[in-house]
Amino acid sequence: MTRKATIADVQTLSCSNSFRNYHFLKITTEDGTVGWSEFDENFGSPGVAAVLGMISHRLIGQSVMTHEHIRTDLSNVTRPALNGVIGQALGAIENALLDAKAKVLDVPCHVLLGGKVRDKIRVYWSHCVAYRMRTEHFSPPIVDLEGVRQISRDVRDEGYTALKTNIFHYDQNDRIEAWSPGFGRPHDPGRNIERKTLKDLRRHLEVMRDEAGPDVDILLDLNFNARTEGFVKILRETRDLDLFWVELDTLDPKALAYIRAHSPHPISSCETLIGVQQFLPFFQQQAVDVAIIDTPWNGVWQSLKIAAAAEAYEVNVAPHNFYGHLCTMMNAHFAAVVPNLRIMETDIDRIAWDAEVFSHAPEYRDGHLIVPDRPGWGTEPVEAALKKYPPLPLTGLIHRTQTPRLAS
Ligand SMILES: [Mg+2]
Repeated sequence: MTRKATIADVQTLSCSNSFRNYHFLKITTEDGTVGWSEFDENFGSPGVAAVLGMISHRLIGQSVMTHEHIRTDLSNVTRPALNGVIGQALGAIENALLDAKAKVLDVPCHVLLGGKVRDKIRVYWSHCVAYRMRTEHFSPPIVDLEGVRQISRDVRDEGYTALKTNIFHYDQNDRIEAWSPGFGRPHDPGRNIERKTLKDLRRHLEVMRDEAGPDVDILLDLNFNARTEGFVKILRETRDLDLFWVELDTLDPKALAYIRAHSPHPISSCETLIGVQQFLPFFQQQAVDVAIIDTPWNGVWQSLKIAAAAEAYEVNVAPHNFYGHLCTMMNAHFAAVVPNLRIMETDIDRIAWDAEVFSHAPEYRDGHLIVPDRPGWGTEPVEAALKKYPPLPLTGLIHRTQTPRLAS
């Protein structure tokens, strides 16, 4: 078995998904077993593929069966800068090694990860409204409040039990616009929450509730779009609304604990953290009701350690999942094995060629994802199809419209 699992080659591949790029890591053993993972460079982390190119020589000649040994070796040689983009590269390697190891053993990854504790995973329809505003893909795209009404009905009619939405502004004709100063849209470094944002957010949530009906859970994601004062203002404004959770990101666990103490809704957070040590202060401070773990960033094996730490603090976890189908499958195996799972994120609105560039799409039934039992993650990129959609040169947060220059 040792020879069969010896790593002979490591490559990265990518393709366009029209508004960002999909990125894949491919690890091939001497006997031709291929382990895949998907990683991301669009969400504020350019350079993961470059890091992989610089460190992957250390994998050659090692066994995919020893993924934890390989991880510790890579941690040793990157320790002074372990998290961020480096951490994401290590997560990508770990995930591809898990896929290869499972394929060598001819088992689904969830068997390697301890064995599933559930056959299906409740999901929520994420970026509900935001993705359908991408006019190049959806017909008709969402341009105004009527589109918001329609997608809310679609969630209910298609059998989903939960949706997640974001902050939007509306103009006097009810035309919709995303509002995310945390990511520079608009450029507003104060990230203050003013009356218009509160008024438009309330209206947006009330319309979605009216159209989705009383049986669909509504989740709200505020990302990094405010500071403590603003987050608390939003929580006050939405106090009487029926929300499953309010999700937000702040890097100060005490600030988040303060926000949670002032919240009528459960608080979820932590999607940009890497490693148990970054999560721990949030648990110690009782800062979250649900800890969101990005398993493509962390690696699924390390994510299990984070989930175990959360469980010790009686906290449930939820995968951060807004990528391609391979990430969804990686997250599905994670969600299948962790006892302390709350719910799983997934994007139901997809671009047309997702069906071509992945060997298998996730299967959804009655608002649940069915855990796959094929060897490995249960889907992989189709290399011939990737070539049809070359990666975009200018994509991701780092290529958003330039901020206006200030007069000097
Ligand atoms: Mg989020």
